[in-house]
Amino acid sequence: MAKLYVCLLADTEDNHPSYMPGWAKFGTDYDVKNVVPRFEWLNHFDELIDLFEKRRFLVTWFLRTDLCLRNKALNRFLPYLKKLKNFGIHIHTLEWDGKIWRQAIDKKSQVKIVNESIKIFTKTIGTAPRFSRMGWNAMSSEIMQELERNKIILDCTAVPGYSSSGFFGKRDNILDWKDSPRKLYNPSYGNYKKQGDMKILELPISSKEQSHIMYNDFFSRIYDYIPRRLSNAFLPTVISLANRMKIHTHSNFMISPNWNAESTFGIIDSLVKSVREGNDEILAGYFHPCDILDPKTGKMNRPYLDKINRVLDHLEDLDIDIVPCSAYDATRRARI
Ligand SMILES: [Zn+2]
Repeated sequence: MAKLYVCLLADTEDNHPSYMPGWAKFGTDYDVKNVVPRFEWLNHFDELIDLFEKRRFLVTWFLRTDLCLRNKALNRFLPYLKKLKNFGIHIHTLEWDGKIWRQAIDKKSQVKIVNESIKIFTKTIGTAPRFSRMGWNAMSSEIMQELERNKIILDCTAVPGYSSSGFFGKRDNILDWKDSPRKLYNPSYGNYKKQGDMKILELPISSKEQSHIMYNDFFSRIYDYIPRRLSNAFLPTVISLANRMKIHTHSNFMISPNWNAESTFGIIDSLVKSVREGNDEILAGYFHPCDILDPKTGKMNRPYLDKINRVLDHLEDLDIDIVPCSAYDATRRARI
């Protein structure tokens, strides 16, 4: 019988940057060269791990390591490694431009960042990472090749159909996954978005089939054309309006404090339809564990935990066979 293999992917890092809307008080300052990452969210990490454990959903935790934070985040996660079980590396291709840390566009810099980040991870943890997820879903053929050269066997960065020319004055979120496959694939050496003969596997985040004009570059347009202080005030209004109108700019499976849990249900439903037709499917969804911190109060964000539970409830209530597993197990077991 066909099954739905469910894997959840967690970008496990510091508190969100202080330049993100709502995070001025508790966010990490990325406008200084020697970044001192903040981790107030870690006060609630055990509770988050236990939530998934109790409900028997497996998370693959991608642990932040790069040339900006080096092993500052990793050192904080070391005491949790035994409990986390499945983990890989989460690399933000950040470089210091003299004023701020921003996403590297230069391919040589990207390769250097990936290579050195994996070295830092290996030295700190004692074993090399085998799985990866890139920060802000950034990717290039050079990054993909460098991941493979470093013996990464599975990358989970693709957000099919989604692209962005950059957020917050184009300092991050520069990505292009337009026309990329929606199912597990081996990329081509010359084009990371095309099926090819690389050894590394790419597991795309589950996404809606049809693309909507709102999905592409929506936020980057807001951020690029409206000054930051104004967009910080404007964004919550746009989000609440979009939620009320049931418009979701995220066509990919993300559990976010900003969006209704229902925004993921449509994606689940289309996979369920395919499973009922006799096909194995993989549901890959991601979230940020630091969202467990309410950035206004510094306390636990209970409504966010409720939201995660609602998504898991929805999955458990499906009348098909679901198999919670790690990202790697999903790629081994699903016949797709
Ligand atoms: Zn990240």
